[in-house]
Formats: sequence, C-alpha cells, structure tokens
Amino acid sequence: MIEEQIVGRGIDEPRLIEAMRAVPRHRFIPETYRSHAYEDCAVSLDLGQTVSQPYIVGLMTRLLDANESDRILEIGTGSGYQTAILARLARSVYTVERLAVLGRQARETLESLEYDNIHYRIGDGHEGWPAEAPFDGIIVTASPSVLPDALFRQLKTGGRMVIPIGEELYTVTRSGEEAIKVHHGGVRFVPMVEDGA
Ligand code: SAH
Repeated sequence: MIEEQIVGRGIDEPRLIEAMRAVPRHRFIPETYRSHAYEDCAVSLDLGQTVSQPYIVGLMTRLLDANESDRILEIGTGSGYQTAILARLARSVYTVERLAVLGRQARETLESLEYDNIHYRIGDGHEGWPAEAPFDGIIVTASPSVLPDALFRQLKTGGRMVIPIGEELYTVTRSGEEAIKVHHGGVRFVPMVEDGA
C-alpha cells in the first residue's frame, strides 16, 4: 500500500510515511470488508459511512502538515483511521463524530492501540470544539456545501484547515480575518450532515 499508493504517487514526507506504516488500517475496518483494507479504494464502514482511500488520507495529512507541537481538530471520526495517523504526528487530536455508534467503536479501537493523546466528542462538527479552540490545524473528512464559519473561527491565525467543500478539496489558511483558499483537485466524501436542517 505504502510503496504503490503513497510514495509511488509523490507523497514522500518521512514522518507521514512512518505514521502510515505504523497504523494497522485493517483494525479500523469492519470484519465484512477487512480483506479490502489495503486496497486502493475507499472502504465501507457501518451506517453508510466510508473510510477514505489511503492516498486521500495521505494527501490530506500531507496538506495539513501537522508538527509535534500542534493541537489538531478533526471533524468526522468515522473509523478512527485518520485520527490514528494524526495522533502519531501531532501533540493532540480533538475528534468530533455525529454518530455515537461509530464514535464509540473508533474510541475502542484507538484505545486498544494505546493512543493516549486523542480527545473524543459526539456532536455536530459544524460547531467544532469551542472550549478547546483555537487549533493549529483542522481536518474535515465529511463534505459541507460551504466553509463552516465556526470552524474557520477556531483556527489560529496562520493555522491551516484541510476540507472538502462539495466535491473539491481545499486548504484554507487563516490570515487574521481573511481565509486564503487553495484548490487541490476533485474528491468525493460523504456529506457533512446538518442536524436540524
Ligand atoms: N476520517 C474517517 C472517515 C470519515 S467518513 C476515517 O478515517 O475513517 C465521514 C464521517 O463524518 C462519518 O463518520 C460521518 O458520520 C461523519 N459526519 C458527517 N457529518 C458530520 C457532522 N455534521 N459532524 C460530525 N461528523 C459528521
């Protein structure tokens, strides 16, 4: 997986490669689909959700560019696979999932792998995690139709968010009140659900 799908496609940052090698992707995938864990595709989770293709996880993590001292907010815990990679690269990860069943499963998996720098929350990711803001970086792994303002406000100035908006991947860097958006190509994600909408 690493050689062909990650390094072979131009992602060669050593810390990221090491993190992706260290995380056992199959542990995050339900048994029914486990044999597909290392294939070049997204894999189904319970409740109609998916864990992203390894390359997309690599690309988004590369774009986030977290370092050892960063506190990162992740929206869309899902299986917890992306969370595990972030936990190896950053100081701490604050992860928010709307579906309690998935959030609980992810937490069990991550705790069984002995990650101790992850904070879990069940709730609507549009609100972020105000009590722990501001964050050095934010990664969103479900797709809203517009940039959620509350998330942008929880980014430090100089901080970076990686987010699919509709079917396009962006980095959004905060410079004071200004959002500097850079496009990184087309992607497909499950929608970021608006509860109560
Ligand atoms: N990063 C995950 C994949 C996430 S799939 C992994 O590595 O497995 C997207 C996740 O976002 C799903 O679990 C979905 O339930 C969650 N989600 C969708 N809308 C959300 C919202 N408004 N707030 C929080 N989580 C949301």
